[in-house]
Amino acid sequence: MKIKSKEQIPQYKHIPQRSCVACRKIKEKRELIRLVCNDGIVDIDIAGKRTGRGAYLCSISECWETGLKRNRLEYALRTKLTMENRQALMEHGKSLPKEGK
Ligand SMILES: [Zn+2]
Repeated sequence: MKIKSKEQIPQYKHIPQRSCVACRKIKEKRELIRLVCNDGIVDIDIAGKRTGRGAYLCSISECWETGLKRNRLEYALRTKLTMENRQALMEHGKSLPKEGK
């Protein structure tokens, strides 16, 4: 009896998936927000098409907080955030909805 394990995985084929650097959950790319590091500045990549090292965070404020406070984002992007940069990203995180619990 041969089990073809590949056939048991449903419909992943055409959905790009990434994991959030804060909670590590794997989600569809469109559910995550991409951040890109360019010349030491971390910016939000809304269109998802910028070049540079990228990292993903869920579009909920908790993950932005975790990602920024625990330096997960910096680690993922191999960079050091400036105070201003961190502040700007924190502000963005606060504007996001909280996880619905
Ligand atoms: Zn997350």
